[in-house]
Amino acid sequence: MYYIDPHIHMISRITDDYERMARMGCVAISEPAFWAGFDRSSAEAFRDYFRQLTEFEPTRARWSGIQHYTWLCINAKEAENVSLSREVISLIPDFLDKPNVLGIGEIGLNKNTPNECTIFREHLDLAAKTNELILIHTPHLQDKYKGTRMIADMLLEDNRLEPERVLIDHLEEHTIGLAKDSGFWCAMTLYPITKCTPSRAADIIETYGDERIMVNSAGDWGPSNPLAVPDFIMEMRRRGHTETRIQKIVYDNPLEFFSQANHFEFSSPDTLCEEQQAGAQ
Ligand SMILES: [Zn+2]
Repeated sequence: MYYIDPHIHMISRITDDYERMARMGCVAISEPAFWAGFDRSSAEAFRDYFRQLTEFEPTRARWSGIQHYTWLCINAKEAENVSLSREVISLIPDFLDKPNVLGIGEIGLNKNTPNECTIFREHLDLAAKTNELILIHTPHLQDKYKGTRMIADMLLEDNRLEPERVLIDHLEEHTIGLAKDSGFWCAMTLYPITKCTPSRAADIIETYGDERIMVNSAGDWGPSNPLAVPDFIMEMRRRGHTETRIQKIVYDNPLEFFSQANHFEFSSPDTLCEEQQAGAQ
């Protein structure tokens, strides 16, 4: 089955991972901007990172036939530094017309502090002014519910933003309802141990349905599995779900959400095969 991983940090992954993902059926990924493993020392470091996300990573993904999309922001961990964050936000418009950019993300809260809220709102303002899609990171701490509630409230109070153009990620059993009921797109991050396992995600799908929902592997600095989406596909098959239903979650839904981006170009795997055949003749 073809699939899309809508949230994976390939910067922390080796080139062989792209190859393994392609063999498992991955045809596209989207990579949100995030933390580098350390706090960066200047806005110029972010400019270089945005170049990596918009220039080199699409090239590296293409070596394995994977289409690479990205999201730009300063992440919530570094947003505690308000002046640095404002400098970084001012750089983002220079990159919004790059062909693989889907929008602003992953923005959100880390420790639910006032500074994080200030910078979150300033990212929302940029997204509203530039009509960009938004990808949201919800906190991993024990106050996940509180952080997710605060994020949803800030999104809903800005009436320039449409919930169907916002994807809220890292949802779990106790937070998915509040995101879904408000009309946002929802995503679950599949981790080997923490966050959501493939079987917990399958339970959530069986409870909340398959509309406006997707799964991803995150693939970040900690223990994580870049093949977690295929693991979810296997779990759904074991439970007897139809191929059509599984494909909706791992392929059709991400495509439907991404298609709202200002400039989203996607070649379906069948088209790519035809192009390769034509090239070989
Ligand atoms: Zn992430």
